[in-house]
Amino acid sequence: RRWGWGLAGELRQAAAREPDRPAIIDEDGHELAYAELLDRAERLARSLRTAVGVRAGDRIGVLCRNHHGLIETIVAATLLGADAVLMNSGLSGAQLATVAGEQRLRVLVHDTEFADRVTGLPADLHRLDEQAREDLVTGASRGELRPPERAARIIVLTSGTTGAPKGARRPTPAGFGPLVSIIDRIPLHARDRVLIAAPLFHTWGFAALQVCLALRATIVLHRRFDPTATLTALGAHRCDALFAVPVMLQRLLEHPAPDPRPPLKVVAVSGSALPGSLASAFMDTYGDVLYNLYGSTEVSWASIAAPADLRTAPTTAGRPPHGTRVAILDDAGLPVPSGRVGRIFVGNEMLFEGYTSGAGRERRDGLLDTGDLGRMNADGLLFVDGRADDMIVSGGENVFPAEVENLLAELPQVREVAVIGVPDPEYGQRLAAFLALHRGETLDEEAVREYVRHHLARFSVPRDVVFVKYLPRNATGKVLTRELRRHHG
Ligand code: ATP
Repeated sequence: RRWGWGLAGELRQAAAREPDRPAIIDEDGHELAYAELLDRAERLARSLRTAVGVRAGDRIGVLCRNHHGLIETIVAATLLGADAVLMNSGLSGAQLATVAGEQRLRVLVHDTEFADRVTGLPADLHRLDEQAREDLVTGASRGELRPPERAARIIVLTSGTTGAPKGARRPTPAGFGPLVSIIDRIPLHARDRVLIAAPLFHTWGFAALQVCLALRATIVLHRRFDPTATLTALGAHRCDALFAVPVMLQRLLEHPAPDPRPPLKVVAVSGSALPGSLASAFMDTYGDVLYNLYGSTEVSWASIAAPADLRTAPTTAGRPPHGTRVAILDDAGLPVPSGRVGRIFVGNEMLFEGYTSGAGRERRDGLLDTGDLGRMNADGLLFVDGRADDMIVSGGENVFPAEVENLLAELPQVREVAVIGVPDPEYGQRLAAFLALHRGETLDEEAVREYVRHHLARFSVPRDVVFVKYLPRNATGKVLTRELRRHHG
C-alpha cells in the first residue's frame, strides 16, 4: 500500500485489522473501538456532504479540545477531500474571526464551551456545536463514500507567539519515513497505550496523534490537561507513554508522585524549550523515560534528545533523527564550526508546503530556515538558543533569554521563569526576569542578580527582576512575552 501518513488511511487500516481494539479512551473511561471511530467519521462525512453541502476543496475549521470529536471531524473532512483547519482553542473571538476569514472557512465544528466565542463569526459560516455534530453522526444516511476528487490537506496554525497565527499546509509524505524517524529513537510499540496531553490542534499533539494511529495505539484523551487526573489516568490505564508540552511536566511535579509510579516507558515533550533543571527533576522522580523533541509547525520534528542525552546535557535538544538534516549556518549561508552559534536550518520530508497566505520561508539547498539560533557540539548534540527575534542585544552584547532562564530555573525557590529584553536608554536593551516562586518561598531581587553574576557574564544579569504569581501562557504552554512586556509597562 501507499502509506500516506494521513489520518483517514491510518484509521481505515487500523479498523480493518483490529476493529475491536480500543482507539480512544476518554476522561470518563468511555472506550471507542477502531471500527466504531471509523464508522462515526464516515457517517459524519456522509452527513456533512448531504445535509451541510460540503464539497472537495472546502475548508472546515475544527475548534475542539482533546476528544474523539476532533479526530472524527478531521477524518470526515479528509474523506470528502475537504481541508481541515485546526484552530487553537486559546484564540479570542476576534482572532477566530480573523482566522475564519483568512482561511475562507465554510464550516466550523466547535465544542459547545466555545459557543460564546464564535458568535461574532460571519453569518454564512455554517457552525456545528457538539449536539449538531452528534446529530449528523447518528442521522447519517447509508451509502458508499466515493474517493474524493482531490487529496485533502490538514492546515495547522502556528502558535502565534510572534504575531497572528499563520496557517501552515501540512505535507502528506508517502512511506514509513516519519514513523521510522520516531520509533527508531523512542521506544514506542504497536498497540501501546498513550495519553496525549498536548493539544491535538497543535503541531506536536497532531504529530503524536499521527504516530499513535500508525501504531494502532489506544489513545487516552482528556479534554483539558489536569495534573491530578493525568496522574490517575496514567496508572489506571497502565499507559506506556505520555505526550506533553514541557510546562505540563512542571505541573505534574507539583503533585505528589503516585505510589506505585505509573508504568511509563516514554514521556515525550515538544513545543517549547525544556528547561534543563525540569528535565533532571522529572527523570529523578519518574525515571529515565524523558524525550525532548525540537520542532515547529513548519518542520514537524527536527531533533530528539533521549534520556541518556538529557542526563549528560540536560538542556540539549538531541540529535536529528533518521531522514532529517540539521545545519547551523551563518548569515552568508555557510556552515559554522561546531560549538558556534548560527541559524538552525532543517531538511526532512515533513517540511510544510507553505503558509496558506501564500508566503513561504527561506530555504537553502532544501533546508528550511527555522528562525531559531542554536549550536551543535562536537558530539553532534543540538542546543537551541531560542528565536533569533528573541535575542537580546544589551550594550552591544548578545544574550539569549534561554541561557539566563535555564540558570534561574536551577534556583530551588523558582517554579517558572521567563526573561525578555526591554528598551533601555543607555544599553539599547536590558534584561527583565519574571519569576514565579514555589508556594511559601521567598527570594529577593539582589539575590537573583547575584546568582546570575556569579555564573554568567555581566551583561547577562537582569537589571529588572519582577516576581509574579504565574507566567502568562498560551494553550500550548508557551510564555506570552507580549503580555510580559505589557505587564512590565
Ligand atoms: P508563530 O510562528 O506564530 O510565532 P510559534 O513559532 O511559536 O508561532 P510553533 O511552531 O508552535 O509556533 O513553535 C515552534 C518554536 O518553538 C520553535 O521554532 C522553537 O523556537 C520552539 N521550540 C519547540 N520545541 C522546542 C524544544 N524542544 N526546544 C527549544 N525550543 C523549542
